[in-house]
Amino acid sequence: MADILQLSRAVINKIAAGEVIERPASVVKELLENAVDAGASRIDVLVELGGSQLIRVADNGCGISQDQLELAVASHATSKIMDADDLFHVDTLGFRGEALASIAEISQFQLRSRTEQADAGAELEVVGGEKRPLVPCGCPPGTTIEVRNLFYNTPVRRKFLRTTQTEMGHVAEAFTRIALAHPQIHFSLRHNQKQLHDLPPVDHWSKRIGHFFGRELAENLLWVENEADKIKVSGYVANPTFSRSHNRMQYLFLNGRHIRDRSLQHALGEAYRGLLLSGRQPIAFLRLDMPAEAVDVNVHPTKLEVRFRDGRQLYSQLLGTIRNMFLATDLTAQIEPAATDQQGPEASMDPGRLSQHRQQLVDWTRGETSRLTATSGEAPNQVDGITAAAAWRAGTPAELATALGQAVVAGSQGSAVEAAELQTLGTSLGVQLHNRYLVAEHENGIMVIDQHALHERVLYEQLREKIANDALEVQRLLVPEPVNLTAAEAAAVIESRDELAALGIEVEPFGGDTVLVVAYPAMLGKLSPAEILRQVVEQLVAENRPPERRDLIDELLHSMACRAAIKAGDSLSLDEVISLLLQRHLCQDAHHCPHGRPTALVFTKEELDRRFKRI
Ligand code: ADP
Ligand code: MG
Repeated sequence: MADILQLSRAVINKIAAGEVIERPASVVKELLENAVDAGASRIDVLVELGGSQLIRVADNGCGISQDQLELAVASHATSKIMDADDLFHVDTLGFRGEALASIAEISQFQLRSRTEQADAGAELEVVGGEKRPLVPCGCPPGTTIEVRNLFYNTPVRRKFLRTTQTEMGHVAEAFTRIALAHPQIHFSLRHNQKQLHDLPPVDHWSKRIGHFFGRELAENLLWVENEADKIKVSGYVANPTFSRSHNRMQYLFLNGRHIRDRSLQHALGEAYRGLLLSGRQPIAFLRLDMPAEAVDVNVHPTKLEVRFRDGRQLYSQLLGTIRNMFLATDLTAQIEPAATDQQGPEASMDPGRLSQHRQQLVDWTRGETSRLTATSGEAPNQVDGITAAAAWRAGTPAELATALGQAVVAGSQGSAVEAAELQTLGTSLGVQLHNRYLVAEHENGIMVIDQHALHERVLYEQLREKIANDALEVQRLLVPEPVNLTAAEAAAVIESRDELAALGIEVEPFGGDTVLVVAYPAMLGKLSPAEILRQVVEQLVAENRPPERRDLIDELLHSMACRAAIKAGDSLSLDEVISLLLQRHLCQDAHHCPHGRPTALVFTKEELDRRFKRI
C-alpha cells in the first residue's frame, strides 16, 4: 500500500462537492436555500442551457458584509450554527457551511453582495476553487451569485450531465419545491431568456399550488390540520378524483424544508386506501411544523431525508388527520342542480365546477366505459355526466334486457313488504347491474351504489357497534383450527392476543409457528376462521402498523369488513339487493366505505331534467 497523505483542500472540497452537487439543480437548490435563509422577499433565478452554462440567483436578503465574503466561500464556514449542540436546533435551511465552497470549487463562481448598511457592494470571483482579489462593485442590497460552466474542471461529472431538457426539468423541480414552501416570497425563474415562472407573494397557499399545478387542482384540494404535542400537520390533500401514476406530487415540508419520507408517504397512501384505483397515487401538499429538536436534519448530505424523534407517532397523526377529514367530508359525487337560468345547463355552471364534475364522472365510469368500449368497438364520443351514465347503463342489448327484467321484477313482484319498506324510505327500485352496482331511486334523483363499498361499510359499523356494546357474538369452535404462519406472524398474533380477543378472534399458541383459532365472530361465518386470521395478520405485521391499540382495532375491523363484504362481481338476489339497500339507511355514514371511498353517487332529478332539456 502507498503512504498515507493528507488530502489537499482542493481534493477535500471536490469530494464534498461530489456529495452535495450532483447536477445544476443541486446548485439552484443550495443558492435558493441561502437566499431564503437571508430573509429575502424576492428571489430571481436565471438559468442557461439547463444550468450547465449559467445559473444566477439574485436575492434582496440581508447580504454579506465585505469582510465576510471570503469566509462565505470557505468550507465549513457558516453563520447558521456555532457549536455541535446547535445541530439539534437548526432553524435555517442551511447549516453545513459547505455549499458555496463546493460550488466554487467546481465552477467559475462570482459573488456580489451588499448589506443594507454598506454604501457599496463587493465582488468576489473564485475559479475552480482559486479566489481572485475582492473588488468593490455597485449593486443593490442583497446577494447575487453566478455560477458558470459547472463541472468544467471535473470532466467526469460534466460527462454525466443529461440533456438540457432533463437538467432543466430537475432545476424546475428544485425551484418548485422551494417556491411552494415559501409562498410569501416573490420568486421568478427564467431559462435561456424565457420566463418560466413569475410568482408574486400570495396570501393563500393554494394559490401558489395553483400557479404550479393548475387552478383545477387548486380548487379541488381539501384542507387538513391537526396539532398534537407541539407537532402540527397542516396543508392540502387532493380530492381523490385527482391522482397521479407516480408519487412525485406528494410534497412534504418540514419546518419549511422540502423532504422525502417513505414512512409518511406510506401513511398518505393508507389514508387514501380504497379511494384510488390501484396504481394511482395521492396528491398532497403537507406542512409538518415541529420544534427543531423533534427532528434530526443532519442525516443526509442534501438534507432531503430527516430522522424524526417519534416517527410512529407522526405516522399515525398524519394518517388519522387525513382519514378523519375524508370521513367528515361528503365525497358522494353529486351532480348538483345548476343555477336556473335560460342559457342551458352548460352555460349556467361555472366552467371549473363543470369540468370537475365531468372529471369525477369520467374517472368513476372509466372502468365500465372502457369495458363497454372494448366490447362494442366504439368509443363514447362524448363523456360527460349523462352520456357517461347512459353508456354505463345501456351496456349490450342483452345486459340492458336483463337489467330491465330485474327492474320489472323489483317493481312488481319483489317481496311486497320489503318493497313497501323501501318506498317509505323514498327508494322504490333496486337493480343490480354488472354484478357490481346497485341502482335505486333516491328522493332527489337516481342513486348508484357500489355494492362492495356499501356492504363493507355496513359490516364495519355493525361490528363496531357490537364491539362497543359488548354484544359481539362469538362462535366457539368444537375443534380449534390450526393456522400455520411465519415466525414473525405467529409472534405478532400472540403479542396482539388481547386486541384480537376484543374483535372476537381468540387464538392460542400451539407450538412452533402454528396458532390455534379457538373462536371467531359469528357474523363473519361466511369466512373460515383461518381466512379471518390471515386477513388480520397482514395488518399486524405491516411495517407501519398503527401504534395505538384503538387505531389497530379499527384497522383490523376495516380489514375484516373488507374481507367479509360482498365483492364487485358477486351476483345478488333481489332480496339481497333490497336488504342491502335497506341497511344503507341504518348505518351512520352510508356515504362512505370505511376507507372513505364514496358508496353512492347521486344523479339529481334537476340535472336529469336539464340534460333531457325538460327545463
Ligand atoms: P450554509 O448555508 O450551510 O451556512 P453556505 O456555504 O451555503 O453554507 O453559505 C455560507 C455562508 O454564506 C452562510 O452561512 C451565510 O452566512 C452566507 N451566505 C450564503 N449565501 C447568502 C445569501 N444569499 N445571502 C446572505 N448570506 C449568504
Ligand atoms: Mg447554504
